Amino acid sequence: MPKAGLVSLNLEGVEREELEVDVLIVGAGPAGLACAIQLRRLLQAAGKGETLLLVLEKAEEVGNHVLSGAVMDPRGMHELFPEWRERGCPVESPVTSDCVDYLKANGKSLRFRGALVPPPLKNHGNYIVSLYRVVRWLKEQAEGLGIDVHPGFAGASVNYDGRRVTGVQTRDAGIDKRGAKKAQFQPGMNVKAKVTVFAEGTRGSLAKGLIARLGLDAGKNHQLYETGIKEIWRIPETRAAELTGSVIHTLGAPLGTSGYGGGWIYGLSENRLSIGYVVGLDHPDVKLDPHALFTQWKQHPSVAGLLAGGELLRYGAKTIPGGGYFAMPKLFGDGFVLVGDAAGFVNMARLKGIHLALKSGLLAAETIAEALREDDASEPRLAGYATRFEGSWARDELYSVRNFRQAFQSGFFAGMVDAGLQQITGGRGLVARRAAHADHETRRPLAQARFAKPAFDGKLALDKLTDVYHSGAVHEEDQPAHLVVRDPELCITRCTQEFGNPCQHFCPAAVYEWPHASAAEARQAGGVVINFSNCVHCKTCDIADPYQIIEWTVPEGGGGPKYIDM
Ligand SMILES: Cc1cc2nc3c(=O)[nH]c(=O)nc-3n(C[C@H](O)[C@H](O)[C@H](O)COP(=O)(O)OP(=O)(O)OC[C@H]3O[C@@H](n4cnc5c(N)ncnc54)[C@H](O)[C@@H]3O)c2cc1C
Repeated sequence: MPKAGLVSLNLEGVEREELEVDVLIVGAGPAGLACAIQLRRLLQAAGKGETLLLVLEKAEEVGNHVLSGAVMDPRGMHELFPEWRERGCPVESPVTSDCVDYLKANGKSLRFRGALVPPPLKNHGNYIVSLYRVVRWLKEQAEGLGIDVHPGFAGASVNYDGRRVTGVQTRDAGIDKRGAKKAQFQPGMNVKAKVTVFAEGTRGSLAKGLIARLGLDAGKNHQLYETGIKEIWRIPETRAAELTGSVIHTLGAPLGTSGYGGGWIYGLSENRLSIGYVVGLDHPDVKLDPHALFTQWKQHPSVAGLLAGGELLRYGAKTIPGGGYFAMPKLFGDGFVLVGDAAGFVNMARLKGIHLALKSGLLAAETIAEALREDDASEPRLAGYATRFEGSWARDELYSVRNFRQAFQSGFFAGMVDAGLQQITGGRGLVARRAAHADHETRRPLAQARFAKPAFDGKLALDKLTDVYHSGAVHEEDQPAHLVVRDPELCITRCTQEFGNPCQHFCPAAVYEWPHASAAEARQAGGVVINFSNCVHCKTCDIADPYQIIEWTVPEGGGGPKYIDM
């Protein structure tokens, strides 16, 4: 029988330490840290400075697992710290110019500037940042207020009392690949909290289970995701100088009209460029490979010309929850709230979520402070967070693009037309509320797959393993794979025939391999090969697997990419 699958940890009877805090925040991204900072300030102002706040982060260092473009709309940061620039929040550059390039398949391109740039892609007044640097700065601000931020601790499961969330259990450390305790075994602890804030970012593994268990997505659209592939390049100084502060978005090749997506080039400081390509995971082609698509994009003369003579510094990938307002789950329940990407606070038309993540953290903090003052963390009390959101600019912004991403499920041209109509109808477009197919439901059979990978040349076109090296991804090898295939036999039978094992294509980190020539060989080898140490925590597999049998769970705390400066 195939070996890939759930390793039974057989850890019954393990004694776990219990830690009791008032508020537990899972995830030290912009949403979680903004929530912590604002909450501490509100509690201090109310004379409740002794309230215990704890922030847990799965990365070895705060910032190591965040990845963004990133052009930041300063609105959220300004509300958190009106003097954010004077205080030293790191920025790469204010945006000095923006344009949209339409890349043609023949290697030529058309540039749109000024009034011809679609309104969502206008970026004057915004700032190019490294989210890694911003998040590390936020962590310093939080610690300056006496907040405990603990990297290296992953929330592994949610603790419940009926429908009430009572906290989380952190990941056990020191379990070998067969599920047995090693000498240095350290049981995860139970962190008990009056309020738990789920700030895990895109497709949070705890949030996913919570949403399903409590039906928080009842009556909502399916969340839609994109995978974004990003690299940072150092380029020759002469070219870099004129690009610092530039924001270039690209449409057209290589994706053309086959799906939703496009590219970005942002001019950073220190002669560096942030480049990336985003593709909707509702693309029907089972051979589509986001990393290969990004490679083809880099090879387009318009992009290749900018990178000529340059050097790759960093690589990474992450998904984005782009479904918008109608895809957001219920934001609260007994003892918990959801903030940031974990709750879908992303404006996909603008490719922006940082300001909304910060704002969601601020709004949640106001409600939690109120709940602690009243000693009442019940669902009706925490409903105040959703009420605050509905009365905020964040809601207005998200509502104004409420049908954006779904419109592209009717085809690229239909999407463009509807997106144009949405601009003049306050976000409505042709239909009051567009429905959506879940990403994994959109795959066409293998026989209809057309996507072909480019040849890798070691220059612009780097293979996945070379790129993964530049992500810094590393995990303790002697632990159970954190990527769990729930039905390995299904990969060998149906998936091979129907879809050709698409995990080997869509994973941007070469985690999954299917080298088997026959079902017998596949069974003999234990099914799909899972190189879990390569995993960059993008969550593409959890979303794109057509049978939804791959589950992304947290590895031992600290494992994963090192997205320095991403
Ligand atoms: C390719 C790409 C390009 C983007 N470009 C832009 C842009 O240009 N401008 C913009 O405004 N937005 C952009 N975004 C969106 C933006 O980055 C996100 O909206 C924003 O980072 C969300 O913040 P967050 O705090 O919710 O989540 P994150 O930034 O993802 O932070 C979540 C944190 O939680 C941690 N975590 C997760 N699970 C656990 C767990 N179980 N236990 C402990 N810790 C956990 C993670 O390690 C991470 O540190 C982009 C996103 C991507 C992927």
